[in-house]
Amino acid sequence: MDAPAGVKTSKDFPIPQSMKAWVLGDPGELTLTDKPVPVPKRAEVLVRIDAVAICATDLEVIYQGPPGMIQGGLPFNKNFTPGHEYMGTVVALGPGVDEYRIGQRVAVEIHAGCGQCKRCREGMYTSCHNYGLNYGDVDKGHRANGFTTDGAFCEYQVNNINTLVAIADDMSDEEGALVVTAGTAMYALTELGGLVAGESVVVSGAGPIGLMVVAVAKALGAQPVILTEMRDDRMKIARALGADFAINISKEPDVAGAVKKLNGGKGVDYVVECSAASKAVNDAVHMVNRGGKICLAAFTHEPALVDIAHVVSNNIYVYGIRGEGKSAVHRAEAFMRQKRFDATKIHTHTFPLADLPTAIRYAKDRVDDAIKVVVKPRLDAARKVAAE
Ligand SMILES: [Zn+2]
Ligand SMILES: [Zn+2]
Repeated sequence: MDAPAGVKTSKDFPIPQSMKAWVLGDPGELTLTDKPVPVPKRAEVLVRIDAVAICATDLEVIYQGPPGMIQGGLPFNKNFTPGHEYMGTVVALGPGVDEYRIGQRVAVEIHAGCGQCKRCREGMYTSCHNYGLNYGDVDKGHRANGFTTDGAFCEYQVNNINTLVAIADDMSDEEGALVVTAGTAMYALTELGGLVAGESVVVSGAGPIGLMVVAVAKALGAQPVILTEMRDDRMKIARALGADFAINISKEPDVAGAVKKLNGGKGVDYVVECSAASKAVNDAVHMVNRGGKICLAAFTHEPALVDIAHVVSNNIYVYGIRGEGKSAVHRAEAFMRQKRFDATKIHTHTFPLADLPTAIRYAKDRVDDAIKVVVKPRLDAARKVAAE
């Protein structure tokens, strides 16, 4: 990287001119290529990517397109690099940056909002009204790495300092890559939901987000935390992360009734829907108590049939969640720093960057019971390691 005036680098972290980067061609088609190492501008740093986790939303972007949005449209065949759940080491500082130092390990949030729209001013930068307006002669300063700007299936990426979260020295790279996942769970429960200790929570679906919602809910003092799921191995992990009860929905036809039985007959204060099952939203409506809240955290691919009259007559709140916001990721990192839960329980596999297509196949097809699959750019390309 040729550092322009004002950009600080260090001889301890030499930065090459070009890097390996995966780019998205047609849907589902990724090619490993060379790209120039990006240069940080004002209020940005260059992060050397040490670990990137594969998220269900990456699969949406790679195979379907949205919420990826490049040059105002679908992300295909635009030399775009996906990947968004990552951590790394700060290796260059843009002009004027003194909030972080070279060599510092950081987790990163995905979204740097424009900072000037109504939602950004409220701290809800993942709902930025200028989402994706960063192409051609338009530059609203919005970035969502791996969605509207280049992401992390490569070796280096620039990040706005607003998106950085310093991580504890004893946190592994893999755990660091899960900080943002836990941050999403935190955002769902506290910033958007308003959960306080002692309230009851159901999590439907034990994918990575569902499992992190269980862990964060328990760490926040929720009581009880109930998981609904059909795979016994996932139920076991949820119990290890703090779920008080796990209901196997393949053995329980009346799941709403089973939830109520476990919580005094009235239903729970919160349901966080993470399963994407088309019937799950209607089940959630009947699990939540009067005045309770339902957070929708999964992408369903078909419209869901919901008993709206029940929602109306019981004053039920329904809200969607996109990513994280209001510094929820900082709070999640603080919990992880204090060992309030062990996020690494959801990490199952690690691959080198060169093996990204295999890593994606493991995540997508849940090969070998994969939950969270991590890719490490600096891992020896010949090595594939199973998680500890
Ligand atoms: Zn994600
Ligand atoms: Zn904005």
